[in-house]
Amino acid sequence: ERAYRVVASRIGNDTGLYVLMFKDQSEARRIDRMRADFIANASHELRTPLASVAGFIETLRGPARDDAKARENFLQIMQNQTQRMARLIDDLLSLSRLEMKPYQKPNAQLDVVALVKGVIEPMRHIARENGVEIVSELGDAPLLVAGHSDELVQVFENLLENACKYGSSGERILVSADQASPMDEVRVRVQDFGPGIPEEHIPRITERFYRVDVETSRTQKGTGLGLSIVKHILTRHDARLSVKSAPGEGATFVVHFPPVPPSGTGAESA
Ligand code: ADP
Repeated sequence: ERAYRVVASRIGNDTGLYVLMFKDQSEARRIDRMRADFIANASHELRTPLASVAGFIETLRGPARDDAKARENFLQIMQNQTQRMARLIDDLLSLSRLEMKPYQKPNAQLDVVALVKGVIEPMRHIARENGVEIVSELGDAPLLVAGHSDELVQVFENLLENACKYGSSGERILVSADQASPMDEVRVRVQDFGPGIPEEHIPRITERFYRVDVETSRTQKGTGLGLSIVKHILTRHDARLSVKSAPGEGATFVVHFPPVPPSGTGAESA
């Protein structure tokens, strides 16, 4: 549906003639609607754990007051719920920080192989806790991309965290990178061998708050914001995410970076 704003301006003082301009408002409306949806979703996601904590406080004051075992159980649930709220707020802050920052094309070149290796090391213990091992097939050759390192660190943290969470029955997570020639894109791959993602859900997993409604999502901690943050950051980098997956065969997330012009032939040096 399209929406227009009509602007009328008079031609001269006494000609009685007007120029009418129709300004397309559809995009502005769409963004307003998205923002409203987002706030509604975020509030709902915060309200659910909050309501649960409030309910347990009531119970602890009343029926469970003298039941030490129930008390311990309820306190544990309350702690989990507050952690969930904290995660949600962290993700919301990341998203809003990204949206506030004016779009700046990254100029700095960085070695994405070294960057991903730096992300893998501290993740190894999370992987082990989930019963998986991260296997790096990254090699030693640097691969240059244009990027903001703190943002790209977040991209690979989120992808690896998901592989650990959802791929945990698969024992291994493979991380690799390649570039066919300096004129080709740089690809970084995170592959797990977990339950995978049903095809019909793949186009939607980068939407805010979208979680695939299977057992794995329900039992794993998450906000449904991780991949939307990834997509947001990659768009700012002129990079993109592709996903290959079939149920039972794991999931492969590939980040595609555009090639950087070889030094000395860039526009600045012309
Ligand atoms: P979160 O992990 O916080 O739920 P994400 O935005 O990171 O949110 O992911 C969205 C959904 O995509 C997840 O809830 C999960 O259902 C699905 N998903 C993401 N990564 C994987 C993966 N490696 N294997 C299977 N499903 C995945």
